[in-house]
Amino acid sequence: MKRKVIDIGEVVEYWRDKPNSFGTFIDVNEPTCWSCGQFWEGRYDAVGSTYLSCWRKAPLQICHVIPKSLGGNEHPNNLVLMCKECHDLAPNTSFPEILYRWMSQQCYLKRLIVKLELALSDFDITIDEIRQLINILQTPEFKEWVKKHSGLHWPQSGYSGLGNKMTLSTYVGLIKYYSSRVQLQKEVP
Ligand SMILES: [Zn+2]
Repeated sequence: MKRKVIDIGEVVEYWRDKPNSFGTFIDVNEPTCWSCGQFWEGRYDAVGSTYLSCWRKAPLQICHVIPKSLGGNEHPNNLVLMCKECHDLAPNTSFPEILYRWMSQQCYLKRLIVKLELALSDFDITIDEIRQLINILQTPEFKEWVKKHSGLHWPQSGYSGLGNKMTLSTYVGLIKYYSSRVQLQKEVP
């Protein structure tokens, strides 16, 4: 028997006007991850398109509340929409409340800040140094230099944290390198 392919639109239609336990307000014109709230700077908002087609274009995945391996079905009441990163990180159990509780605590900005803290510590960047690095970030020389030295890699999770194809560690690593080596060489002839 051919497996029925579920359409994202069915899931949106099912949840759109219902109260939910994962703490998300669903605005049908603004596709977002129902877990972390990532909205891709509004890139997929329904401007000049129908709301269902905008949800189909957004990088969202259909996720089971109760996993299929634990008997979960394909009814929209057992399905939610999440970005790839949330889908990868989400708990898989037979208890919906565990997933709902986890979803309600996710926030893409919080996650970005934690990743930024990690990247800063990976490259030994102190709080005092940040202001100096921000000044460098804004210079045309640095912007040009970064283009030449960064590879583009779309993370498997679809989430670089920067809204583009450069990962946070690339950016933070490059700015540290630039400030500690390239710029110093320029200043010391
Ligand atoms: Zn998410």
